[in-house]
Amino acid sequence: MMNAGEPELITALSDATIGLHGWIVIDSTLLGPAFGGIRRARYRDDDDALADARRLARAMRDKCALAGLAAGGAKAVLVDRGEGHDWPAVYAALGREVESLGGRWVCGPDVGTGAEQLGWVRRTTLHCNPASNDASRSTADGVLAAMRAVWLALGARDARGRTVVVQGLGGVGGRVARGLVDAGATVIAADPDPDACARGRDHGVTIAAVDALASIPCDVLAPCALGHAIDLEAAARWPCRAICGAANNMLVPGADSILHARGVVVVPDVIASAGAVIEGVCTVLGHDDPITRTRIAERIAAIEHTTASVLAEAAARGLPSAVIASERARTRLDSPRLGLR
Ligand code: NAD
Repeated sequence: MMNAGEPELITALSDATIGLHGWIVIDSTLLGPAFGGIRRARYRDDDDALADARRLARAMRDKCALAGLAAGGAKAVLVDRGEGHDWPAVYAALGREVESLGGRWVCGPDVGTGAEQLGWVRRTTLHCNPASNDASRSTADGVLAAMRAVWLALGARDARGRTVVVQGLGGVGGRVARGLVDAGATVIAADPDPDACARGRDHGVTIAAVDALASIPCDVLAPCALGHAIDLEAAARWPCRAICGAANNMLVPGADSILHARGVVVVPDVIASAGAVIEGVCTVLGHDDPITRTRIAERIAAIEHTTASVLAEAAARGLPSAVIASERARTRLDSPRLGLR
């Protein structure tokens, strides 16, 4: 049986001398070693930080299950208080914790943790996403694959002539936006980072103000910034026909029913954003050779098929797509060998 309630492991991390404060949450290793990144962010308080780690670890569990991977879900959060942190030492200390778990959790990048920080983690553990992986590129490829299924669900052939609003032009959103421009879409995007905006503009992306995005009518909204981008009010009003993006936990609880009632097609982020974990699991549990790389590309491209199938079942049963995704993840967790690819 799947662990419906509590995570398998919650470890508090604390060392005031280096500014370490955070948690590791391993939600489940039922399907295999847990995968999931290290988030470094500012939080309202400790409850907020731990709740985020728990939500994100559970989402990783479902992401792996839905992608047919022999892997479970985990996450760590490091609380950023803005000062008093020796980050290289903090990440090295976290690496020692990862190492002590003996491979039960393989850590990787997340918001606030990129190549430099993972370099510090690798000083003290082997259980880390390989440096040769490009998580943002793989995730963007997966979002673009999911979007191909969305065009069909909207009765269109492809992206040509469609309008997509991209929220966030970072590692993933920037690539998604550029890929959509290349595919013939009109792309309107916003990001508080002027450099990210300049890179998008250079590639034909129209830049809007962050606050203006929610009033721009579009075919698809692609949330590629932080989680909970769609609150209940946004769910009720955002002038889009579909939502498909990378941001983990992009909907607040309750938003999916409102969007469903409005007839907005929603691709669950646990499906659309699986590219990086597919690459991570395949290179860590397999080999990093040309055959594996081809296999990874095929599996990321297969996100189109998974998306189409979940959207079709949701339409046929008249249910929000998140319900279908959750049912399928549960089925997989109850029968670990089912759907293994
Ligand atoms: P990133 O930090 O590179 O980019 C996020 C971008 O969002 C930044 O450029 C930031 O300035 C911008 N941003 C912040 N607030 C914004 C706002 N209110 N409006 C518009 N833009 C805003 O992160 P990323 O790696 O591109 O990841 C994006 C999202 O996708 C995150 O939620 C992440 O958890 C999720 N995700 C990423 C990966 C991956 O492989 N990188 C995998 C799965 C899920």
